[in-house]
Amino acid sequence: MNASKHCGRIIPVLIISILLIPLSCEENPGSKTFGDPPTPETCFCDPDGIETYLEWAADEYPDIIQLRSIGMSESGRTIYAVKLSDNPETAEAEPAVLVNGAVHGNEQAGAGMALKLIEYLAEGWYIGDPDAAAIIENLELHIIPVINPDGLALSGRLNSNDVDLNRNFGYNWYTEEDNNGDSAFDQSESSAVRDDFLTQGYCLAVNMHTTPNYSGIGIYGPWDAFGTDTDSLTPDGWAAKYLPNYALIEQLGADYAADVTAEGIAPFKQYFHYLEGADWYPLYGSMTDWALGVCGTVSYSVELYPKQNYTTADADTLELIWSAQKAALLNLITNAELGTGGRLTDTSGAAVTGAVITLTAAASGRSFSPLPYDALTGRTDSDGYFRFITEAGDYHIKFVSGTRVGEADITVGASGETSIGGTYSAFPEYILPDA
Ligand SMILES: [Zn+2]
Repeated sequence: MNASKHCGRIIPVLIISILLIPLSCEENPGSKTFGDPPTPETCFCDPDGIETYLEWAADEYPDIIQLRSIGMSESGRTIYAVKLSDNPETAEAEPAVLVNGAVHGNEQAGAGMALKLIEYLAEGWYIGDPDAAAIIENLELHIIPVINPDGLALSGRLNSNDVDLNRNFGYNWYTEEDNNGDSAFDQSESSAVRDDFLTQGYCLAVNMHTTPNYSGIGIYGPWDAFGTDTDSLTPDGWAAKYLPNYALIEQLGADYAADVTAEGIAPFKQYFHYLEGADWYPLYGSMTDWALGVCGTVSYSVELYPKQNYTTADADTLELIWSAQKAALLNLITNAELGTGGRLTDTSGAAVTGAVITLTAAASGRSFSPLPYDALTGRTDSDGYFRFITEAGDYHIKFVSGTRVGEADITVGASGETSIGGTYSAFPEYILPDA
């Protein structure tokens, strides 16, 4: 295979025999007794109620839901994640997506949306809803309803150390920012989320918030820090528009805004917009900036609704929010199948985890290379997998793990498959040469 003209050392191999055979899909049982479950509407403001809901869901739907802890809050509450997928106990060759809520504890509707999504997908899977089935069968969807359970318990924005967790992530973390901790990731909640990203290898992340005013509702893309052409204070900020997938990030955000419906909230649709985060207001140390800058994860913040400090008396509002944004959220998640992915192993066939990946657009034509402005940077996950949502085209991919380096030229197809030397696969296997 002539796929290694840059260095001649990597051995890109397509493991067609395994990875291209459709993975066994369970038949939908077709009928299901749901019993008397807790509901998102009655528990979305209370961490104990949410815990009960998640334990119930994992118990009720064990073949598609797996519940795990990603760590503990500063006050000792468990931070839960659920994985929704067929064969949830197995790391499959499928794009991994994260949806989360309540990084701010007074924005309970994000937790409520997360629970509504779990409810819809689990029930949808059992009744044969094709949209639910497509997500369960083709993706590994992870949902963290509450990143900040201590804040949720008090209906407060900050965690129990008075830190804003969405200012505590380690990319463009800035000493002058308010309530951002003494250093990046010095809070157990943000470091737990960081470790979960590095384990799961998310290609798409949706961080759900709410805002006090109609003027703030919408979906926000990169970057939260800086983000305009003239804000060239750091390469990280200035790089925003030169990411190889920046136009696609804008398009998917605009699609979300267009897919939002009014659903009985008359002024809602006219306000709901897509913007770069910093064009609303700049902030430093956000989860979404870290995820894109370090993991290559296409990341958005969604300001779901103009209200904070919800109670269960807002159950009807949660229903409206879900109805208005259900289709937009499902469509966005489905786009995780775009772009390129793969699995990195060593010459013995063992997964190479935590390798730094650089994906560079081959035909950018920009004059300021070798600065990394045309590149996405990411990491292989704990099973050696990686995925980037990016546009079709020719790319150069480079893997670095310690002293081992591998490179290849690849072509990304429009439907999310990758060609190395002419053969397309959704998750080609790359073999990292020995040092
Ligand atoms: Zn928020």
